Amino acid sequence: MATGRTISASFLTTLDHKVIRLCESISEEIYKSISDSSSREEFKKIYGKISYTRDSGLGLGGGKIQRDAVCTRGMQGKAPFSNRNLRWHPLVVAEDKPTFAKKIEKIEIEGEDDEQVLIFIVKNSSGKKLRYPSDKVHEMKERFVALPEHWYPHINVLKHWSDTLWTQNSCVIPALEACNWWDSVETYAILGIALAVDFYDADFNNLYKKVKQILKKQAINRKINLPTFIFPSEKNEIIKCPVCRLNISQNLERFRKFERGTTWQPAWRSSKKGEGDDSSIQIMHVNPLIEKETKHNASNVRYGHRWCNVAMTDHSLEDALDFMKFIIKAHNRRK
Ligand SMILES: [Zn+2]
Repeated sequence: MATGRTISASFLTTLDHKVIRLCESISEEIYKSISDSSSREEFKKIYGKISYTRDSGLGLGGGKIQRDAVCTRGMQGKAPFSNRNLRWHPLVVAEDKPTFAKKIEKIEIEGEDDEQVLIFIVKNSSGKKLRYPSDKVHEMKERFVALPEHWYPHINVLKHWSDTLWTQNSCVIPALEACNWWDSVETYAILGIALAVDFYDADFNNLYKKVKQILKKQAINRKINLPTFIFPSEKNEIIKCPVCRLNISQNLERFRKFERGTTWQPAWRSSKKGEGDDSSIQIMHVNPLIEKETKHNASNVRYGHRWCNVAMTDHSLEDALDFMKFIIKAHNRRK
């Protein structure tokens, strides 16, 4: 299986750099809000570290908040998806045109055999045609979308592409994972505050105020007023799991009646311990992501328990609760 890194992973535009720097200043403020020094170091190492890359880096790259708030999910397989990229990356793919992106003109394929490259041709705002090869699409000045009609003429070539070729051309993000740069920054702030307050005893009011000031002072684009009106203000809305409404730091062990027991693990393999636990913290979208509008933002992204997240699958919270109610009725459980 190809485990290629996103192409251009280490290339950042000036905007990309500024946005990641803004996240870093939020991370530094959060770090300062944690009074216990070993908690502070733990926060930094696991959650708050910043990597100046498109994919949050490998190994000792960025922390969990950067991966969750700023980067798209890792994706592989015979498709042009980046294996993690910035969520404000300009080139998206979708089934239908989302409102936030302009249609590209067409796709061409240049080169032979193992050197084939996707070329995306777009018209800029003054009507000029520009050509972007896959390793340059991050330099697009506006957001563009490639639709099924653009891929269609190339299907017979693309279906024979090797994993290597796809890795060399992994340059788009799915429209449903895309958002504006400020949505990523605000999401970073919300997830960071939740962790600092609920796991590391930071003072909510103080930290919230300081983070808001950082957002207010951003100079990346003065036309954008941060925090936006969707930025949540209630502590409980930020630190509680959206499904079970317990604090994210509370575990769900009380709901397990029987000991799980241990299962054999090959001792010579490193295991990602903890990630599969019911109570481990995962990023959740209260309303599922959709292609036509951006849903990865400060009002819709929260940390929650793995069990709760898995129970929702890709449904809205409303749908999930209706389904749970139905299940409870089906089992005649009233108490
Ligand atoms: Zn929960």
